[in-house]
Amino acid sequence: MKIDNNIEGYDPLGEDHVGTSSNTPLRLDAFKLSNEEKIDIIKDDVRHIMETLGLDLTDDSLNGTPNRVAKMFVKEIFGGLDPNKKPSASTFDNKYKYGEMLVEKNITLYSTCEHHLLPIVGKAHIAYISNGTVVGLSKMNRIVDYFAKRPQVQERLTIQIVKELQEVLNTQDVACVIDAKHLCVNSRGIRDIESSTVTSEFGGKFKDKAVRREFLDYIKLETKF
Ligand SMILES: [Zn+2]
Repeated sequence: MKIDNNIEGYDPLGEDHVGTSSNTPLRLDAFKLSNEEKIDIIKDDVRHIMETLGLDLTDDSLNGTPNRVAKMFVKEIFGGLDPNKKPSASTFDNKYKYGEMLVEKNITLYSTCEHHLLPIVGKAHIAYISNGTVVGLSKMNRIVDYFAKRPQVQERLTIQIVKELQEVLNTQDVACVIDAKHLCVNSRGIRDIESSTVTSEFGGKFKDKAVRREFLDYIKLETKF
């Protein structure tokens, strides 16, 4: 099956999502093709790019690249476009009545810039204040990873992580800070290897200056392990 590239197919994902920039812009037919069908089409596209660049695809070293890249796009680095891969929403009761903020910091993040399809590499720091519900710590890593595995802009990624946790935890009191390097800035174009980009989203109680300060102070802690 070939994707229909006419302009109707490029509408955003349904009326509900219009105007909410926090959603990944998806085509209406985003999930009509199976992953295997997508890999098949992308494989040919990658081959076409490489051949257009003048590369000899009969060379042993290049031979497997189109298939390898297609699989990597669909199953790995853009695997988070697939809603079936969203981490399950298992939560627990806050039995110990811990009422302070919980911070998980230095979550390794690998994403892809949607403007250049080059890597974004960084750290995410997340905090929430429980409203009676808690999540397993690794759930936060999984949520970061799921939304990171899409073509992204860092601002949207930050918001998507917070919104998802707000829904899972049933509270607005969630915050996320991401500090990341964009290889489109570091390795090409302006080639500024030192710069990194910081984005933040503060929900509920984290809009309060003192609460926000506490979170930011925890992030700064450099514990030796
Ligand atoms: Zn870029």
